[in-house]
Amino acid sequence: MSTQPHTDGAFDDLLAANAAYAKEFTFEGFDGVAKAGVAIVTCMDSRIDPLRMLGLKHGDAKIFRNPGGRVTDAALEALVLGSHLLNVDRVVIAPHTHCAMASSSEADLRRRVGDSAGQDATWQRFHVVEDQMQALREDISRVCAHPLIPDSVEVGGFLYHVNSGELEPVV
Ligand SMILES: [Zn+2]
Repeated sequence: MSTQPHTDGAFDDLLAANAAYAKEFTFEGFDGVAKAGVAIVTCMDSRIDPLRMLGLKHGDAKIFRNPGGRVTDAALEALVLGSHLLNVDRVVIAPHTHCAMASSSEADLRRRVGDSAGQDATWQRFHVVEDQMQALREDISRVCAHPLIPDSVEVGGFLYHVNSGELEPVV
């Protein structure tokens, strides 16, 4: 089954909203550094509003998201660039409560995706997390141990509670 390029009209609402956004746009000439020196690694979950949960605004942070909010190789790539070229001196790693990546098994996700797709999905990897706090500690270590991320960069791990908005520091 192949995916087709978009059909006419599929993005009309978004493009209309963009036109209004562009009309009011005030960030011309804004550079791409993290103005508050913050990089955030978090989950793709739509319950998370990474900037607002930290009191940050447009331009303040570099944000890297994936299922589970894991420090993957691609996340490390972003953090190396961020810490050397984009003003990042603090890294917030924030997985969250009720994350499907931490409450499902790999087999379960493959089965559910397979059911939805109507075809075999057992070959697709999802990087499920068995112990979320242990995974977070490992992710903090991966950043701290990276030879190209300076020791001066502060790395914090927090569990984001999706039903209260609180960030719980990992100890
Ligand atoms: Zn999640």
